[in-house]
Parts: sequence; C-alpha cells; structure tokens
Amino acid sequence: MAIDLQFGPEHESFRQDVSDFLQREWRKGRDVAEFRTAATDAGYFYRSVPRRFGGSEQAPDSIKASIIASEFSRHGAPGELKGNGIQMLVPTLLERGEDWQKEMFIPRTLSGEWQWAQGYSEPGSGSDLASLRTRGELVDGKWVINGQKVWTSYARSCRYTFALVRTEPDAPKHKGISYLIIDLHQPGIDIRPMKQINGGDDFNEVFFDNATTPENWIVGKRGEGWSVSKSTLRHERNMLGGIDRSEAIFNSLIKLAQRATLEGQPAISVPWVRDLLAGLKAELEMQRHSGHIQISRALSGGDASLLQMMGKLVQSNFAAAVAETASQIIEDEALISPIGNRRPGNERWVGQYMNSLATAIAGGTSNIQRNIIAERGYGLPRDGIGT
Ligand SMILES: Cc1cc2nc3c(=O)[nH]c(=O)nc-3n(C[C@H](O)[C@H](O)[C@H](O)COP(=O)(O)OP(=O)(O)OC[C@H]3O[C@@H](n4cnc5c(N)ncnc54)[C@H](O)[C@@H]3O)c2cc1C
Repeated sequence: MAIDLQFGPEHESFRQDVSDFLQREWRKGRDVAEFRTAATDAGYFYRSVPRRFGGSEQAPDSIKASIIASEFSRHGAPGELKGNGIQMLVPTLLERGEDWQKEMFIPRTLSGEWQWAQGYSEPGSGSDLASLRTRGELVDGKWVINGQKVWTSYARSCRYTFALVRTEPDAPKHKGISYLIIDLHQPGIDIRPMKQINGGDDFNEVFFDNATTPENWIVGKRGEGWSVSKSTLRHERNMLGGIDRSEAIFNSLIKLAQRATLEGQPAISVPWVRDLLAGLKAELEMQRHSGHIQISRALSGGDASLLQMMGKLVQSNFAAAVAETASQIIEDEALISPIGNRRPGNERWVGQYMNSLATAIAGGTSNIQRNIIAERGYGLPRDGIGT
C-alpha cells in the first residue's frame, strides 16, 4: 500500500504562512523576547494556552504544530521557552487548576519571569514515587510541610516548586498525596546543591522544615495529587518534539564525520563509520514515521500514548548511540572531560554522552518505561511499581 506523507493544500499554505512570518520577523540579533511575543501573537507559540493567560489560543492541530516546529528549526529561529513551568505546570493548571491559579501563575511563567522546580523525587522514592514521605498538614489555614526532596533540578534559580506531598497519611499510598505549589524563598526551606561527576551542580536537595504554603495553593483536591501529576493535556509538540532533537544531534555527528580524520582519511569515508551512520539514519527515519503514526492516531481519536512512551525510550537509546559513534570517531579525545573553561570542542561529545545517560533516568527510567510498555502494550503481568 502506498503511503502519502504529503500534507494537504490547507497545511501546505499554512507552512508558507509560517515561512513568510519567519522571513519577515526572524533575523539573528533580534531581541528574542520580542520575537517570541510576535510568534505568540501570530498564533505559533503556546497554542493550547488561552490569550488571557498569555498564550495564542489555537484549536489543537498536530499537523500545524509539527509544521511550526520544522519551519522554526529550518530557519534557525528560537522556539517556545521550555522548562518545568511551561512544559509541566502550565498544562496541569490549565487542566486541573482554579481560574485564579491560572491567572496568578501562568502569564509570568510563560514570559520566563518565574522558573519552577519539580518537587517529586525523594531519597527512596524515585521509580516508586507513590511511596513518598514528605508530609503536609493543614494548620490554621496553611499547609505546614516537613520532609526532603532530592534531584530537584535548578531549584536554586526557581521561584516556586510544584511538589507532591503526603497529606492523607492513613489513605492508600496513591490516594494520600496532594499537589501543592510552594514558594521556595522562605525560612523553612533549605536548598543544597549536589556536586555532579561532570563538575556541574544543577541538582539539589530541598529540605522542608515547617515550610508553609496557603491552604488554597493546592491543585486539584486533597489526596488527588497523584492523578493531578499525571494530567496530560494534549501536548501537540510531544509527538514530534523528539525527532527535532534526534535530527539535530545526528546532523552534528555527520558534520563531525566530515571534519575529523580517521585512519588517514576523512572519517566519513571509513567503511565502518559509514555502516554506523547508515544504521543511525535508518533509526532516525523510523522515529520520523512513528511520529507520523502518532499524529494520525491522535487525529482519528485513537490512543497514541504507548507510542509516545516508546518514543522516549527510542530517543534516549538513539542519543546514546550517536554519542558512542562520535566517541569512536574522536578516539582519545573521548577521554577529555567536558569540565572547565576550554573552548567547546570535541569534548562536548563526552557531555552529550553523559546527557544521554541522564535522559534514560529523568522523568521515569528506561527500565520503568519498558515495564509499562510490556504491561499496557503487551498485557504481560504487572510489575506493580512505577505505574
Ligand atoms: C537529569 C535528571 C533530572 C532530574 N530532575 C528531577 C527533578 O527536577 N525533580 C524530581 O523530582 N526528580 C528529578 N530527577 C529524578 C528522577 O525522577 C529519578 O532519578 C527517577 O525517577 C529514578 O528514581 P531513582 O533515582 O530514585 O532510582 P531508583 O528508582 O532507585 O532506580 C534505580 C535503578 O533501579 C531500576 N528499577 C527501579 N525499579 C524498577 C522496577 N520495578 N523494574 C525494573 N527496574 C527498576 C531503575 O530503572 C534504575 O536503573 C531527575 C533525574 C535526572 C537524571
């Protein structure tokens, strides 16, 4: 059966509009915040967020979303701001928050003024997150919070955290958790950086010692935090977001192979390098087609969540394979640590490799993804953890 992967005339004309907008509005050196405002006004950014909260309020359209992503990437233009606030908190508030919470928190998050920390993991509660023990008690109209979070990325530069806290100690573990918004700048909170093997200190431990937050800074009802944290508004971009990243690192690898010398010739001419590159290119194309299948399933009202989960797994493995291939090309330089003030050179591939290990852990480890795919996708017996 022939598969027609062309978009129809309506979407091709939309592509032209996006391209015209970028020709007109984007040039290197332009104020990026101003450009993002123009892109939002034109309906290209924050499409699921109502205008009154700073978004562009567009009807969901996965094809348009993918066209926007690919045109912005093709023109080298900046995309939407990213981060826990925009990618996790905002969709959650839109789906489960009170109107005043949306008004208070969304506009200054979209503008980049407020950064958010994700307060989920605890010592002993990572994959088995529902076993978390940080407590929240309601005392005189305030939540009083005690306990500890860990691996809290960038907490030191964040204004708030959205945290999972046990508020119903007698309820079954998934039912006893609430989703609280907490100001990180208060005396009851101590944020301690964690030194990483690569020299960075992006992670933190966050200690709560009688920290407080107003009673109504809860998203959803008491004890519903587990389901609130799993809110998934239709994330149009998730479906093809990964392919942009995979394509970008693959293109960098090709440039490296063209530039580097190996066995006395350009690396790209060496047969075993060509084999590896061809294999990676095939995987990249599979990811692209899986993205298209996800879009068409979502458009026909089907469930694309399992494919999305497989996508995360495939992308983490792909990023690691690209970095490993680069390490073989740069040979001894793969031993250079990415730490320090040297001008970025080949050691950035070492950083890339380390990052690929991190993405296989963050947001649910690859092992847990495999469990879920096996259980929900193939009906294998339940593991009971991480689902
Ligand atoms: C880059 C990065 C950023 C992060 N940022 C944040 C953040 O901002 N906020 C936050 O709250 N957390 C954050 N985390 C923490 C992350 O969510 C946890 O590391 C992750 O959920 C795993 O938990 P854990 O580290 O406790 O490992 P564990 O759950 O202890 O797992 C250890 C190992 O055992 C395996 N394992 C565990 N259970 C099973 C099972 N049932 N079946 C098979 N294998 C299993 C895991 O796959 C893993 O290999 C971040 C992590 C990384 C790497």
